[in-house]
Parts: sequence; structure tokens; C-alpha cells
Amino acid sequence: MKTALVCGAGGFIGNHLLNRLKDDGYWVRGVDLRFPQFSDTRADDFIVGDLRSIDVCHQSIDRKFDEIYQLAADMGGAGFVFTGENDADIMHNSASINLNVLDTAHKRNCKCIFYSSSACMYPEYNQLDPENPNCAEDSAYPAAPDSEYGWEKLFSERLYLAYGRNKGMEVRIARFHNIFGPLGEWIGGREKSTAAMCRKVAMAGSDDTIEVWGDGEQTRSFLYIDECIEGVRRLMSSDWTGPVNIGSDEMVTINQLVDMVAAIAGKKIAKKHIPGPLGVRGRNSDNRLIQERLGWRPTRPLREGMEKTYAWISEQAQAMRKSK
Ligand code: NAD
Repeated sequence: MKTALVCGAGGFIGNHLLNRLKDDGYWVRGVDLRFPQFSDTRADDFIVGDLRSIDVCHQSIDRKFDEIYQLAADMGGAGFVFTGENDADIMHNSASINLNVLDTAHKRNCKCIFYSSSACMYPEYNQLDPENPNCAEDSAYPAAPDSEYGWEKLFSERLYLAYGRNKGMEVRIARFHNIFGPLGEWIGGREKSTAAMCRKVAMAGSDDTIEVWGDGEQTRSFLYIDECIEGVRRLMSSDWTGPVNIGSDEMVTINQLVDMVAAIAGKKIAKKHIPGPLGVRGRNSDNRLIQERLGWRPTRPLREGMEKTYAWISEQAQAMRKSK
């Protein structure tokens, strides 16, 4: 039986990934500061611990795992990452986790390690035109991410690549673009835009107004969790060692996203545009490299994933209302 360690297994993507590894027949250990918030874990073993601590890393990586997936990070949506208030924590906490996990993996002779980077590492100057952002993998340099979160991701990408070059590790790096779906944060300040829009619409009346940060004309793409996990598994079993985008190339404006959620909910929703943390003006996943290297790319329509996500978030919102 193959063995895997999932760091960040209490989080949104880590929890889904762990489930997929169980379906694929692995023995899996999860490690996180907390258990998953919205479901039980299917981990064979779960360590609640802080991966900034080298002792917790030693305890978590106490054997030679066939595969390690490193998804633990201090992160959140625009309201957490782009205000500037959390910059020191984001950089210190995530860099500490990556330094400790990677070196411990190397010392235990675990060769095969996956690292979850982010599209936030791409330079801002290529993402000023909302219609034509450039997020090709080879456009990363000269580096100019618009957030400290992006700079930490870029540093850690380079750290993993250096361990690949100097210490014989087999490194796989994905640059995720806005992953969404059920069992993700949907309230409390760390939620991403898809979840925030679903929550606002779910909590609104049938002819209501919701607040949208900025003019809503900023563009993004959003990838449903199942295709993200499929991409991670395919990348892990490929021989491609460079960073690769895992994202959708169905680009929409935030206004279009709100209209889609309103249509799914069957509500007439007006938008009130207010100042707020925004991130880059335009972003889309460039899927040429993933197609070329893995012979696969995400293809499912945004609407399909948003229907499933809205259904789950409106259920959560209803349950919360009832419990008050
Ligand atoms: P998440 O916040 O749901 O999961 C991250 C997990 O890491 C959390 O459960 C958190 O408790 C854990 N963690 C944080 N600090 C820790 C520590 N010191 N020790 C142990 N665990 C710790 O986020 P997610 O959406 O599941 O993202 C997973 C990874 O993918 C992250 O590295 C994130 O930066 C990256 N990513 C996500 C997206 C996205 O759209 N969700 C986009 C780009 C990149």
C-alpha cells in the first residue's frame, strides 16, 4: 500500500485531496492546526500540530512516505491577503512551514513532494488589462507579485526547485488559480470571492442588493475542486518538474460571477460597489503548458461548479440562521 502525508489536511483543498488519496487506495496521514471544519477526516492518522515547529515536522514525517503534499499555509481571500494587515504573519508562517517540512522530508529520504503555489506569484504588470492578462508559466520574471502572499509563494517555489536540483528530491509545483467548492471557508474573513458571493446571495432576499468590492469589472477564473484534485494527481504522476498552472481558463468579471450566482439562486440581486481590497485587475489561467505536459487540462464549465457550491453554502447559511 502506498503512503502519503497531506500537510494542511484540515483545510479546504487538503481535505478533498486526502479523500481522493483514500479513494485511490493510499494509507494517509494528515497534519494541520485543526481538523476539517465541515466534515470528518478520512485520514488513517491525523496529527493536530503546528508545522512551524520542527518537532511537529519530525513527528509528522517519522518515516519514508511515498508522497508528501504540502498545502499548509497562512492564507485567505482578498479580505485577508490584500489589506496588508496580515503580511508579516503570512510571510513568516508560510515560509517557516515550507522550510521545515521540506528539509525534514529530505532528511527522512522522502523524495516525492508536491507544493501548492499560487497564481498570486505572477507579476502585477502583466495583469493590468482585465481583457488580456498574461499568466503563462514563463512570464513569472522579472518578479513583481502584488502581495506579500505572492512573494512568499515565489520564494518557496524557488526553495523547492533548489532542493530538486541540489538534493535529488522529485518536486512537483502547481500554481493554483482560485479553487472553489463545497467544504471551503464561506464566512469569517478568510473566504474567497466565490464563497463570499454565494453567502451574500444566499442571505439576501429575493429582490435585494449586495455589496461588491471595486467596480466588479476585475476579471478572474475559478476552478472547481474536483478538477483541481485531478490536476494535482496527474501532475504528481507525471515527470514534469517545473511549476504549472492548475486553473480554469473560463475568465469572468466579478459582476458576471454575481449575476451567475443570482441566476442559480433564482433571485433578482442588485450590486452596490464599495471600496475594498481587490488584487490585480485581470487574471486568467494559461493552460497551454499543462495541456502540453500532462495531456490534460480543466474543461468543466464554471456554472456547473457554482451550482454545487451555492447549494452547499445556502444550506450552511440556513443551518446557521436556524441555530441563532
Ligand atoms: P486553507 O486555508 O483551507 O488550508 C490551509 C490549511 O493550512 C488550513 O487548514 C490551516 O489550518 C493550515 N495551516 C496553517 N498554518 C499551519 C501551521 N502552522 N501548521 C499546520 N497547519 C497549518 O487553504 P486552501 O484553500 O485549502 O489552500 C491550500 C493551499 O493551496 C495553500 O498553500 C494555498 O496558499 C494554496 N492556494 C489555494 C488557492 C485557493 O484558491 N484555495 C489558490 C492558490 C493557492
